[in-house]
Amino acid sequence: MKKVKEYLNTNVLTKIVIALAVLLTLVALFLIITHSVPITGGTKSDDNACKTVVVVNSGDTLSGILSKQGLSHKQINEIVAVLKSGAGITGLRAQRDKIEFMRDSDESPVNKIVVIPSPWRQVELTCDDAGAWKCNTVDIERDTRAVYKSGVILDGDSFYLAGMRAGIPAGILSDVYDLLAFEMDFERDVRAGQHFSVLYEENFSSGAKVDNGNVLAVSFDALRGNVKMYRFKKKDGTTGYYDEKGNGAIKSLKRTPINNAKVTSSFSTRRKHPVLGFTRAHKGVDFRAATGTPIPAAGAGRVVKRGYNSGHGNFVRIRHNGSFETLYAHMSKFKSGVNVGTTVKQGQTIGFVGSTGLSTGPHLHYEIIKDGKHVNPLTVKLPAINNLDNANKEKFLEYRRALDSGIEYLNEHPNMFIVL
Ligand SMILES: [Zn+2]
Repeated sequence: MKKVKEYLNTNVLTKIVIALAVLLTLVALFLIITHSVPITGGTKSDDNACKTVVVVNSGDTLSGILSKQGLSHKQINEIVAVLKSGAGITGLRAQRDKIEFMRDSDESPVNKIVVIPSPWRQVELTCDDAGAWKCNTVDIERDTRAVYKSGVILDGDSFYLAGMRAGIPAGILSDVYDLLAFEMDFERDVRAGQHFSVLYEENFSSGAKVDNGNVLAVSFDALRGNVKMYRFKKKDGTTGYYDEKGNGAIKSLKRTPINNAKVTSSFSTRRKHPVLGFTRAHKGVDFRAATGTPIPAAGAGRVVKRGYNSGHGNFVRIRHNGSFETLYAHMSKFKSGVNVGTTVKQGQTIGFVGSTGLSTGPHLHYEIIKDGKHVNPLTVKLPAINNLDNANKEKFLEYRRALDSGIEYLNEHPNMFIVL
């Protein structure tokens, strides 16, 4: 980011920055391009206090951890109750949550406890003179930057490899996959020479990067045309992804439930069956994946069948809103808790890849059934969820045009970023 300061000294840039700021003020989004972020926030700490930090491990319980710090049974019960009523914390997550214990001296009892359930939130528990515990939640101030990365597909490349080469973090790349999978078939739509880009959030606290946030915009020059998606906050505060025209980009179903899985057999009305040897229709798409790979539900719905037959092996069938059903076959096992009648969310694991039934090796056989008829998952037109009403659409288009200007600018100045 060193070069950024030089850029900032030029008049042209100042004009662009002002132009951008004006544009984005229109859509109630404060935007400037800057070279540094003010250092604010952070944790309050008492210099004289003795602090013990406990990182939660698997098998740890809140009361077990509190007990080890010398807190009495009565105090533990009180702290557990206060955490629940005051901060909604009922359990701990191993390898994620941290707890700090403060004492006036090594020998003194604990008089302050800080539970850290996220880098952006701290729950402070303090003991008053009467011995009662009080709880106070502190939100950690964060500075968010929008960062732009772009790349190109090379010969023999996958989108994943090209994305890594472009410096897109793995977690963001996975989110981008999830989004693009609604519109693209990574097997057939990806060719050498295609360009892609992503604008995403990086979160900073006290000047240090903590984590990545949301994908704000993504663009891919796919074979079937340029695919663009933008994250947009509606007037009611909910967010969604929309295409250039403001149509909902998130579809009710996914064409490829497993990210980055290779299509090994396509939908066809006639094909030679690899096990049976004779020609018959292939009513779904096969995705190669290792045994045990989680299979996510392609869309929200209700499980209507979960069982075994000689062809499909272990399979799950889900009925979605409207006229669609999906089927997942050859599973090694079902996800526990997913039974006939279970309501599932889009992306929720329903089972695991295997090779049960008529199968030559581990893969997911995936079918989409529309109004009782099998359709090609890779080409069927899928309904969008979360469309915009006219007022929101107008606002979206304004926002999208402003964001596009920002992206265009970042494309020419890849070392810069937008402060949100
Ligand atoms: Zn199949």
